[in-house]
Amino acid sequence: MSPSFRHLIAALTLSCATLAHAAAPMAHSQAPGYYRVMLGQFEITALSDGTHPFPVDTVMTNISQQQALQDLAAVDLKLPLQGSINAFLINTGSKLILVDSGAGALYGDCCGKLITHLRAAGYRPEQVDEIYITHLHKDHAGGVLAQGKPAFPNAVLRLSQAEADYWLTPANKATAPEFLSSFFDAAQAAVAPYQSAGHFQPYKDYGPLEAGIEAMPAPGHTPGHAAYLVQSGDKQLLIWGDIVHVAGIQLTHPDATLKYDSSELNAQATRAALLQRAASEHLIVAAAHIAFPGLGHIRRHQGEYEWLPLNYDESAVPLP
Ligand SMILES: [Zn+2]
Repeated sequence: MSPSFRHLIAALTLSCATLAHAAAPMAHSQAPGYYRVMLGQFEITALSDGTHPFPVDTVMTNISQQQALQDLAAVDLKLPLQGSINAFLINTGSKLILVDSGAGALYGDCCGKLITHLRAAGYRPEQVDEIYITHLHKDHAGGVLAQGKPAFPNAVLRLSQAEADYWLTPANKATAPEFLSSFFDAAQAAVAPYQSAGHFQPYKDYGPLEAGIEAMPAPGHTPGHAAYLVQSGDKQLLIWGDIVHVAGIQLTHPDATLKYDSSELNAQATRAALLQRAASEHLIVAAAHIAFPGLGHIRRHQGEYEWLPLNYDESAVPLP
């Protein structure tokens, strides 16, 4: 090929390429934040409430800043780190149960998207029969309210009595660290309208709440933190709330805690026990703060834990 012919071809190729690339505007939006899996006869829908910059550098304890950053780098992450806030909807076939509710209006514009995503997933807030809260922190209970009223008008709000007692007792606010003050206010505000509607039913005993769903004690992050074990057919799902806040750090260093933990020792012990159980019993884990949809398995590998996200499966829940 002569050099001039080669130039001609190159010029033609370039002009074709220019013509082929339409200047389409970027979409600037994410897919609706829901993700569906079947668990035996139950339909599980993970719902994203949004993501926010998780302040690893100011809230993690029992790990050096340098080690935390090194752990993140090992999984190709760095600060600022977007952290997911996930909740999970269980349709048992006879009841619709929401586990946690996102932050509602309490985290600003990043979050509070749960109801939009619930609707996108084909459900309406009025259809929710019960809400099980893992713990009364803002990013789990804030979403039970919309403009100060129950966001789920027909739902009964349930959580452990120990959790209710801690956050709803004014004397505890007085003795807690100052940075938790607004958490007490938010917890009381979340519960109040459900209480006055007769829709607040804390449970005294852990154990079965519903056929196929049991509450388990998982204290440490908060005094009455609960996890929910869901079983249908031969499948088990552990909705574990705040057992892991930053997978990149706490799967490698499970002793790393958070300044918001009410008991670092209990938080460490509970995390160790549930990581071990999830790995040995091959439970599907539904995690509030592992990257959306937060559904996967825990594997023990060379002395450390690893997160294996669920395989994407459209066969059991076909596209519309
Ligand atoms: Zn949380």
